Amino acid sequence: MKKVSDYFGCKVFDDRVMKAVLSEKVYNSLKRTIDEGAKLDQGVANAVANAMKDWALENGATHYTHWFQPLTGITAEKHDSFITPSPDGGVIMEFSGKELIKGEPDASSFPSGGLRATFEARGYTAWDPTSYAFIKGKTLCIPTAFCSYGGEALDKKTPLLRSMQALNKQALRIVKLFGNNNVKCVRSSVGPEQEYFLITKEMYDQRKDLIYTGRTLFGAKPPKGQEMDDHYFGVIKPRVAAYMEELNDELWKLGILAKTEHNEVAPAQHELAPIYATTNIATDHNQLTMEIMQKVAQKHGLVCLLHEKPFEGVNGSGKHNNWSISTDTGINLLSPGETPYENAQFLLVLCAVIKAVDDYQDLLRIAVATAGNDHRLGANEAPPAIVSIFLGDELTAILEAIENDTPYDAVEKTQMKLGVNVLPRFTKDTTDRNRTSPFAFTGNKFEFRSLGSSNSIACTNIMLNAAVAESLKIYADRLEGAEDFETALHEMIKKTIKDHKHIIFNGNGYDDAWVKEATEVRGLLNYKTTADCMPHLLDQKNVDMLLAHKIFTEAELRSRYEIMLENYCKSIHIEANTMVTMAREQIVPAIESYIGELAQIAVAKKELSQCISTKYEVTHVEKLADLVDQIVEGALALETAVAQAERITDVGEEAMAMKDDVLVKMTALRTPCDEAEVITAKKYWPFPTYGDLLFSVK
Ligand code: ADP
Ligand code: MG
Repeated sequence: MKKVSDYFGCKVFDDRVMKAVLSEKVYNSLKRTIDEGAKLDQGVANAVANAMKDWALENGATHYTHWFQPLTGITAEKHDSFITPSPDGGVIMEFSGKELIKGEPDASSFPSGGLRATFEARGYTAWDPTSYAFIKGKTLCIPTAFCSYGGEALDKKTPLLRSMQALNKQALRIVKLFGNNNVKCVRSSVGPEQEYFLITKEMYDQRKDLIYTGRTLFGAKPPKGQEMDDHYFGVIKPRVAAYMEELNDELWKLGILAKTEHNEVAPAQHELAPIYATTNIATDHNQLTMEIMQKVAQKHGLVCLLHEKPFEGVNGSGKHNNWSISTDTGINLLSPGETPYENAQFLLVLCAVIKAVDDYQDLLRIAVATAGNDHRLGANEAPPAIVSIFLGDELTAILEAIENDTPYDAVEKTQMKLGVNVLPRFTKDTTDRNRTSPFAFTGNKFEFRSLGSSNSIACTNIMLNAAVAESLKIYADRLEGAEDFETALHEMIKKTIKDHKHIIFNGNGYDDAWVKEATEVRGLLNYKTTADCMPHLLDQKNVDMLLAHKIFTEAELRSRYEIMLENYCKSIHIEANTMVTMAREQIVPAIESYIGELAQIAVAKKELSQCISTKYEVTHVEKLADLVDQIVEGALALETAVAQAERITDVGEEAMAMKDDVLVKMTALRTPCDEAEVITAKKYWPFPTYGDLLFSVK
């Protein structure tokens, strides 16, 4: 058997390959571009392109593509082959520096939110040399950013790279203040834990709702759900184990550090986590991981559901964004160091995060807002839609001591003075006992847990990096001009704690009492749905901050607002149409057939003898017939609501109508259907039930 270390990254044009195939001069020049963002000259680009092509051909590729992440939420690619005709009637395989650096896909079918007039349908893709090219199937994939002809970002990578740049700029100012003059670069890193469901392809194919919308729109609770907690970390079934094995193999070949895998809380639910990487790479890798999870599942006769809430009444799937910031010299700025001076730097960065999360709660909520994730947030299984921070008792006590100038250590009675005391190490054990917090400090990183399983992590990290860059900028502006650095530092940390401690909450985030306290006493935001939060993207304070750090232009922000709400409306629209179709074409005829059978039995009984009771058939038919009426009416009401919402021209108002009217009518239609399911003979029910789906993989 081949060793993993022998094939890990074998499909990636990574540093090992570059060193081996590029001349020293070209390699060094490319490295400067990757590490320092230096401009690449045409000669170097040509040499890299040629070497990349040769390597790709050797590894079986015939095509190349600029691989990008448009605002559809998935990745896009358009394949071109390397072939160029040669004068003798044959072909040669060519790939130029120009083709490597820039592509011009016809962008007219990607969402642009009005950024791209139809007469200027072209967009362009620009090579991102910081993320390695890789081979997928027979195609060399070159990670790229995707922009309109006018230069506005039409993708998720461009603002993510900008946010990393903004964070780097401000964090460098801070570390220099603490004497770390040798630091050249500060980067954020992310380890995303990815949850998913596996069901059999056979079951999946019978459910139109899963096929069209990714989630079930009907389904009564199964006799057994997750109440026994017997699935979490349970023994992995052989078919799932075989899937995970192949998935790992495929991910490893692509240089993705897939590390842990286990069963999750719900039946048929699993999790995969890679080792963390630089945010940009982690984002590319997570997109690829989601794609490969689905591909490998197909090969095993399975379907991987990445929807955040495939089954009502059963835990949905999330994605935990483990985030930290570190220097190129290897210091994690969220790790309390060994000396008081490092501690002070840690506390300042910690405060920057607390301030950022509090000031931009709305942007973090917006970053995870989709129609699908709305079903999860606040549903007593996932962190609530309210953003709060968990720090753990120890760290909270330290901050309190600083705020009040009181002794921290009860035994030694030491007053917490920055630059004097040494902080304790915060092991995962002392910090991570709370699983209900949306934003938890876990020893040397923060874990943002509100993401839905299908979300691109780019959105969260754009907002997080930008917001933290803003806090750091405010701090750096103040500290760089301070006469007495230590005093200014102490005062600023104190002030941050005072101003922002209302967002720190170490209790149970699933508790109803918390919702009340958070909103009524602490004044935290609680935007329950995408329709509620999205308009705040354009609040002046958010626009000002995102523009100041050059994350978005105003036009880009407006376009994203439009696109996100359009996606929300479209998702609900498709769900509503699917429900109407399934109710009319599948559910009603099924119930009617069963009614027919019951009626026939009743007639037959009476023919046999007038004395035989037909009470069961009669009451049952009455109940079913009543449900059929409710379903038919419900379908009509839903259809009307969708048509009305569709006529609204303002996308914000349409989203509100989707939320207040269409979603409500969807629930109203679902209720009689689910009631009918449990009293209709199984052989008539037109598609697999929750029990069938959740326990389908043996
Ligand atoms: P848990 O399920 O307890 O949250 P896991 O081990 O499943 O923990 O996942 C933790 C994730 O956090 C992994 O992807 C891991 O690589 C990542 N991680 C660990 N340290 C850091 C760090 N300093 N910065 C960012 N991510 C980190
Ligand atoms: Mg976690």
